[in-house]
Amino acid sequence: MHQLTLAEIARGLADKKFSSEELTKVLLARITQLDPQLNSFISLTEDLALQQAKAADARRANGENGALLGAPIAHKDLFCTQGIRTSCGSKMLDNFKAPYDATVVAKLAAAGAVTLGKTNMDEFAMGSANESSYYGPVKNPWNLEHVPGGSSGGSAAAVAARLLPAATGTDTGGSIRQPAALTNLTGLKPTYGCVSRWGMIAYASSLDQGGPLARTAEDCAILLQGMAGFDPQDSTSIDEPVPDYSASLNGSLQGLRIGVPKEYFGAGLDPRIAELIHNSVKELEKLGAVVKEISLPNMQHAIPAYYVIAPAEASSNLSRFDGVRFGYRCEDPKNLIDLYKRSRGEGFGPEVQRRIMVGAYALSAGYYDAYYLKAQKIRRLIKNDFMAAFNEVDIILGPTTPNPAWKLGAKNSDPVAAYLEDVYTITANLAGLPGLSMPAGFVDGLPVGVQLLAPYFQEGRLLNVAHQYQLNTDWHTRTPTGF
Ligand code: GLN
Repeated sequence: MHQLTLAEIARGLADKKFSSEELTKVLLARITQLDPQLNSFISLTEDLALQQAKAADARRANGENGALLGAPIAHKDLFCTQGIRTSCGSKMLDNFKAPYDATVVAKLAAAGAVTLGKTNMDEFAMGSANESSYYGPVKNPWNLEHVPGGSSGGSAAAVAARLLPAATGTDTGGSIRQPAALTNLTGLKPTYGCVSRWGMIAYASSLDQGGPLARTAEDCAILLQGMAGFDPQDSTSIDEPVPDYSASLNGSLQGLRIGVPKEYFGAGLDPRIAELIHNSVKELEKLGAVVKEISLPNMQHAIPAYYVIAPAEASSNLSRFDGVRFGYRCEDPKNLIDLYKRSRGEGFGPEVQRRIMVGAYALSAGYYDAYYLKAQKIRRLIKNDFMAAFNEVDIILGPTTPNPAWKLGAKNSDPVAAYLEDVYTITANLAGLPGLSMPAGFVDGLPVGVQLLAPYFQEGRLLNVAHQYQLNTDWHTRTPTGF
């Protein structure tokens, strides 16, 4: 039962082959048995899950249907869940029980999804390896000595290990696509403004976007359908009707124009990954796509710009965790300054502290123009590059990451080495564009992802291309040994 996709679960439930309660019990048992190897969950919500599963079964017995009705999922632990710990992977929020549900959580619950638990993540979503969590690192099910990617590494590892069919993630600079690539999943970062950020604990507000992690594009369409839509509580949410994503899956790729940016294949890319990406291009050509080389000339500036903007916004967002308004409070503070200093010094881990300091520096008087403003200008150039490219092509294709999953600890002493792993993903966040990563093969037994980018609100096009690719390849069906 644990091999079933969301689409297969919906059919099985509709055909009364099993109940949501049965399926939920099987998966909860599997998590209890196997997750100690992976550490992909921070909290399990067994009681809630069984209650939601029974309610979904009752709704189905009353004739209701729906792709998510009775489907087991989990939430990255930065989506607020009422009455349930929402830790953001941090000691700062270790005892925080959210007083309300995030919009994404509420929408999925209303659609009948069953929440099995909250997944592990890099502290405050800062990282590319899921090693900065207060709850310990997450392991990659493809090789337990390797990282699963981050920051949605818990969601990715759990879905890849077949502990559940799909989970939510968030992507500020790649945190859905990069762990999807490193664990052989399909992951979609929607257009900025497509999925509500209300109740999603902020890292960098102008870049953060929630989205689905699943094994197939078909399942990403189902989960995104339940997540997307206008939310008056989020001022950056866009008031557009939500398209039927599943209906877009079967379009023909005949004549689809694919742009392959030459800058994506420079130094730093593992040549074995380059070869797999070229193979995926050939596969899409067989399906009728037309491929041409394009250029995104400002891509080289993306990492420096991102690592100014994201920490700047983070330093502002994280100021509320001061031991008074929110978060951990130190023991026996001597005075107010001591309370702030020690609460934040003890509550935040080293990567978060590093980003807060970088961000506060970049925003400080005298440096604002030189760093933050400059980075915003680069951001506009990057967006313009994409707009020019999308005049010529329908989809941009390249690698998701320059390397396969690295060994746990391998980049711990060099934060910049880890930042470089985001080179292909952060441009989509800077421009606000949708991006998808899907399985493209293996290097030394470790999965490799191919990334697709599309114009604003063309999530359907991304899912269409990925689905057609997955109908003709079987990389996404491979299961890690032992799971
Ligand atoms: N690795 C990037 C960072 O640490 C992206 C993280 C994310 O998308 N949340 O900022």
